[in-house]
Amino acid sequence: MNQHTRFNLPICLAVEEDAFFHSDRIIRDYIPDMIGQKTIIVSEQFLIDIYKEKIYDISHDFGGAEIIAMGAASFDEAVAIAKKVCIEDIKVIIGIGGGRVLDTAKYAAHISKAVYICMPTSLSNDSLASPFAVLETVGSARKTIECKIPTAIIVDTNMIINAPEGQTLSGIGDTIAKHTALYDWKLSASKSSSRVEDFAYALSRMSFDSVYHCDERNMKSRVFIRILSRALVMGGLAMEIAGSSRPCSGSEHLFAHAIEEYYPGVKISHGLAVALGTIPACIFQGQDPSGIMCFFKSHGLDFDPRSYGITPEMFADMWEKARTVRPGRITVLDTFAHDEKQVGEIYARMTEGI
Ligand SMILES: [Zn+2]
Repeated sequence: MNQHTRFNLPICLAVEEDAFFHSDRIIRDYIPDMIGQKTIIVSEQFLIDIYKEKIYDISHDFGGAEIIAMGAASFDEAVAIAKKVCIEDIKVIIGIGGGRVLDTAKYAAHISKAVYICMPTSLSNDSLASPFAVLETVGSARKTIECKIPTAIIVDTNMIINAPEGQTLSGIGDTIAKHTALYDWKLSASKSSSRVEDFAYALSRMSFDSVYHCDERNMKSRVFIRILSRALVMGGLAMEIAGSSRPCSGSEHLFAHAIEEYYPGVKISHGLAVALGTIPACIFQGQDPSGIMCFFKSHGLDFDPRSYGITPEMFADMWEKARTVRPGRITVLDTFAHDEKQVGEIYARMTEGI
């Protein structure tokens, strides 16, 4: 890890109004080789129902591409799609949907060696351009698996503006998490033989800065959606360049993983879980979290743990479990002992919002 010099970058990153209606032109401009290649579209039934017109338009542009409504976002589903792609000589997979669809389609393209075109319908996290797919393996247990990043990323700003607000807030959370992730990455490098990849670090830092310092706070504005989409893509590329998720994932992500693994009953999206984790992580790192708390408030991102049914006891346990969910990943949590009283004070501060 960190020693590799090979990485891929997408050929195309188009962030445009009504881009899904213009996908034929975008493909012609950026990846003309794909025209006339046998293609399938992977999505989910409810999205196919909602976005019928756009999805059928894209299918038409790709020579009547078959539209598949996938089931679970699982390893088995990805393998089944890959099998179909190989047997039927399909050359291009287009994923249209949220994180579940995009991760499944991305992994299916990776194992079938098909070209992957990513078309997000919401911006809930940075997996859209990351070299990882999170897939169910056994039952609902999920695993993060390495894979190839997309060849093309096409973001339709109109589509994202109309996506549920919670999804965009989640994407904001995953972007702000880079602040504490980058601190932990540097800390880890100082305590081990690994090193920080400067360029990946800079990309991830710019991703954070572009959103954190953005004057436009209206999540339904095109300007904001453009900035957020690019920020999430840059986060994915930072991981690709670093050859690890370190530029985007530190102790705040360990907290989110602890919720996912030990408290599956807590209904909170990945991006909001890491947003909640970023505030304590800042405090553990000796950084002042008030700027980030103000920022979250200005977007209406609710970081009161009670809103998600998280009690003080659960919160303390989540932080204790966070220390063990990813053995070998050095973060600020390795530099001090778990202190229930301190975690309790942080909980109180988050409920009061100060
Ligand atoms: Zn994340």
